[in-house]
Amino acid sequence: MSNGNDWFEVIKQKEYLYIIRERLDEIDPRFLTTYTNLYLILGPDKALLIDTGSGLFPLKPTVDKLIEKRELLVINTHSHFDHRGSNDEFETIFIHENEVKNASMPFDISILKDSSKKIVNRYSNKKFIYQPSITVEPLKDGDRFDLGDISVEIIHTPGHSIGSISLLTSKGELFTGDTAHYGTMYLPKKKEFPMILNSISRLKDLFDVNIAQEIYPSHEQFAVGRELLDNLYDGINNIENIWDSKERYKFLRAWILEDDNFKYII
Ligand SMILES: [Zn+2]
Repeated sequence: MSNGNDWFEVIKQKEYLYIIRERLDEIDPRFLTTYTNLYLILGPDKALLIDTGSGLFPLKPTVDKLIEKRELLVINTHSHFDHRGSNDEFETIFIHENEVKNASMPFDISILKDSSKKIVNRYSNKKFIYQPSITVEPLKDGDRFDLGDISVEIIHTPGHSIGSISLLTSKGELFTGDTAHYGTMYLPKKKEFPMILNSISRLKDLFDVNIAQEIYPSHEQFAVGRELLDNLYDGINNIENIWDSKERYKFLRAWILEDDNFKYII
């Protein structure tokens, strides 16, 4: 991996939907996560990029090739480091209003200096600090972006972070960010469980009324079914039952525990 040519894996999922994947474990295995998934939705005239990844290699050239002459909108599902790394390559970023302030400031990623992966030395060019985009625009629950023959609605799903959003297309794809994915789930403190359970429950409702058809999370497997939401809801709801099995995870100064479907960091 000396140059970035093979860093991003680009998958054409549908005529209008691309997945741009990168390996988070190749940056820092301590996050216990293999893949970060960025998504690109192509309308006839406009395109929408969901998240900008780790910023380890330039993202814009890969995106520009795929969108051709379309106008590009860029949205962050939330402001954590693995979703906003290339924000400074784009003039304007949309993010939920609760995280506009955070996304408008430089962001210190020096925690990555201790990674076992040598590739993080690339960040020394940036002095282990992400720069923000020039403009950061606020999103609210219910906002809608029209890309031509496909539209995308913003759903505020707080819990993983206070401004976490999910995105629902008019064709039934649900992008859940870090609110729901397989692998290692980063949860808030227990007193905030009602908040994340409420968010997951809102997403389950979209399947109950057949508005949502399949799920594209920001980490690990994509194009998964509603059982992800059912399993996660039940898992979080039952954490009290496995609480005694928790262990200390020093790197994140948090508890780690697991059930059949997920690891949880709390
Ligand atoms: Zn993440």
